[in-house]
Amino acid sequence: MTHLLFRHRDIPEINKLQVYQKNGGFANFKKAVTSLQPKQIVDEVKASGLRGRGGAGFPTGVKWSFLPDTIWPHYVVCNADESEPGTFKDREIMESNPFQFLEGVAIACYAVGANEGYVYLRGEFFEVAKFLDQCIAEMEKAGYLGDRLFGTEYSLRLKTHLGAGAYICGEETALLESIEGKRGQPRLRPPFPAVVGLYGKPTVINNVETLTNLPYIIEHGAAGYRQFGTEKSPGVKIFSLSGNVNKPGNYELPLGATFRELIFGLGGGLPEGRKLRAIMPAGASSSIIRVDNASFERVMDTPMDYENVQNVGSLLGSASVIVIDDSHPMDWVINKTIHFFKHESCGKCTPCRDGNYWMQHLTERIHEGHATEKDVVLLKSVAGQMLGKCLCALGDFSTMAVTTAIERFPEDFEKKVKA
Ligand code: SF4
Repeated sequence: MTHLLFRHRDIPEINKLQVYQKNGGFANFKKAVTSLQPKQIVDEVKASGLRGRGGAGFPTGVKWSFLPDTIWPHYVVCNADESEPGTFKDREIMESNPFQFLEGVAIACYAVGANEGYVYLRGEFFEVAKFLDQCIAEMEKAGYLGDRLFGTEYSLRLKTHLGAGAYICGEETALLESIEGKRGQPRLRPPFPAVVGLYGKPTVINNVETLTNLPYIIEHGAAGYRQFGTEKSPGVKIFSLSGNVNKPGNYELPLGATFRELIFGLGGGLPEGRKLRAIMPAGASSSIIRVDNASFERVMDTPMDYENVQNVGSLLGSASVIVIDDSHPMDWVINKTIHFFKHESCGKCTPCRDGNYWMQHLTERIHEGHATEKDVVLLKSVAGQMLGKCLCALGDFSTMAVTTAIERFPEDFEKKVKA
């Protein structure tokens, strides 16, 4: 299929403004500002069924409609803090198709009445931020940003903001704190950012991939967008495929493509002689899907969308599909994920701060072969006590792989523990 988001794979040098313009670039932003009312855009995006591609899958147009029109100014913040292990799609968009992304940010700003938009990038993306700054400067020069755009009363400015390398700043309220120059830790909710967001004002926070869809939706309308994907999960999605596959990489597919198409089709299958054992469809935060002789066909034929991945015991999330073969035991897998979450826990709330500390000790002990059966029971109990008791989603995420590994792969833990 022709790419909607990864247009750089079809059109060489689309990361140059002139090439982007020649291929319809910024015509949709101009159309929005000069001939559509903001509410019409919100309604069209609602009708398109576009859901947040950062992981939560919340309907984008609905999110926008929560902003009160009694409190001003409004802000749009793009979450480009791509840090989930196994996720590497937003970086490719920003580096290779930056103007479509920035046009999407601009359309979102107009739709919610924001005159300022921010792109918040993870600290390690300093080169990407520098490049986006150049793109923004070119847009200003070309008249796509600035005062009274296209002869209307609408003005818009975009800015990039770099984080300092903390995964937690991908959590939207921690991200807002970070932009405000405070320590990047999540806020208590409610109030939600739609009402009290950046600098205390109504704010929309959307992911890079989500916003990159908008020019297409403005051009082709909700019906045009809905020709891709499924009824409940319309549109296209970028799947970041990694782990034990022959051809890892980013693949843009309609939502509802199957695991088989991704892993054995585009991904070229597993290395010779290896057997598929598990899939983490949403990066390190995933519940681990067990794949064995009994479940193989069912899992492979599962459509990768927001509804069906739940039927095999996990969530689509950001669609960071990590493939695990039979050479990797689950005690090794969870030792890796917990090491990450322990390091990234911001420490604000006790269940996550202390829970991850203890989970790391226990997973290490199990993996190194010094644990008893009681340690596995204790590990599961710690994870269970954290679930639902943490201030933000990181705490819950950290328990997913642990709990599902112990429940779905008991033989791996039986092998490791002493009687
Ligand atoms: Fe911080 Fe973890 Fe609590 Fe989130 S759950 S606020 S990351 S300590």
